[in-house]
Amino acid sequence: MSLKLDCRQLKKEELLKLKEKIKKEALQPVLAIIQVGSVDASNIYIRNKRKAADEIGIATTLCSFPEDVCQEQLLQKIDELNIDPNVNGIFIQLPIPTHLDEAELINRIDPKKDVDGLTTMNLGNLVSGKPLLTPCTPNAVMDILEQLNCDITGKKVVIIGRSRLVGKPLFHLLLQKDATITLCHSKTENLKEYTLNADILITAAGTKKNLITADMVKEDAIIIDVSIIRDEQNKLHGDVDYETVKEKVTYVTPVPGGVGQLTVLELMKNTVQAQEIQKQYTLTKKR
Ligand code: NAD
Repeated sequence: MSLKLDCRQLKKEELLKLKEKIKKEALQPVLAIIQVGSVDASNIYIRNKRKAADEIGIATTLCSFPEDVCQEQLLQKIDELNIDPNVNGIFIQLPIPTHLDEAELINRIDPKKDVDGLTTMNLGNLVSGKPLLTPCTPNAVMDILEQLNCDITGKKVVIIGRSRLVGKPLFHLLLQKDATITLCHSKTENLKEYTLNADILITAAGTKKNLITADMVKEDAIIIDVSIIRDEQNKLHGDVDYETVKEKVTYVTPVPGGVGQLTVLELMKNTVQAQEIQKQYTLTKKR
């Protein structure tokens, strides 16, 4: 690996910059987090988000519901948060229990408060080339590429994974930067044929560790591994066989310590951006 980038350090520095902006501009952003049930992993994720927010001057309000909450109650809460002028961002901690209609809940969020960027409206804005708020994990990938000073224009980019959360929005963020993109997925035949050609490989399959081995990547490629796979010993892995691949390529993100480091940061950035969008909207409405 000839390029170095410490994502933990980057997160610290970027959070500090955001803290300074919030202070300097006397912003008082508020993020509402909706939690259903009390799964251990969700508790940890929420704690991390609230801690980061607290450290940089973003207030959080936690709206907790029991596991058996009904759809109507959640929709009502979202409606309340949508019209509350003191709330700038609304975030639903996923996954939620299967008796709930996740898509309906997400789409009920006002797109101007949709800090996860997952409403159909915001995904549509992105596809139409006029993004408003974009999803956190793809944003994290774009930040890493920017930090690496990676020239994306015209480059061959291969994305593995076509989810609404990662692959699809990432496709459009990269398209806006003039990349030439191939989107691979579970039905792609001969994955290696594509990965071997990639100047930039972004992998988000999450199905098995070491899916991507050194013989599948181009020398000097830049590889971003989004996946988080937990093994029987509770150890975390990505899709990429990191130890062998890192000897061949220019850069590959580790798991843990890579993309995952930046997703909370992106949520904080989106919350601040949401507040700015709302201010602008109020001003335009008054004119
Ligand atoms: P998903 O299951 O919704 O999508 C996975 C995608 O990978 C699908 O489109 C599928 O077609 C494709 N795929 C699966 N196996 C494949 C294979 N063998 N070859 C080619 N394509 C294959 O998952 P997701 O929500 O997009 O998340 C993907 C991974 O990223 C998971 O491991 C998840 O934990 C991780 N993730 C990490 C972060 C982070 O902060 N680092 C955030 C979100 C998701």
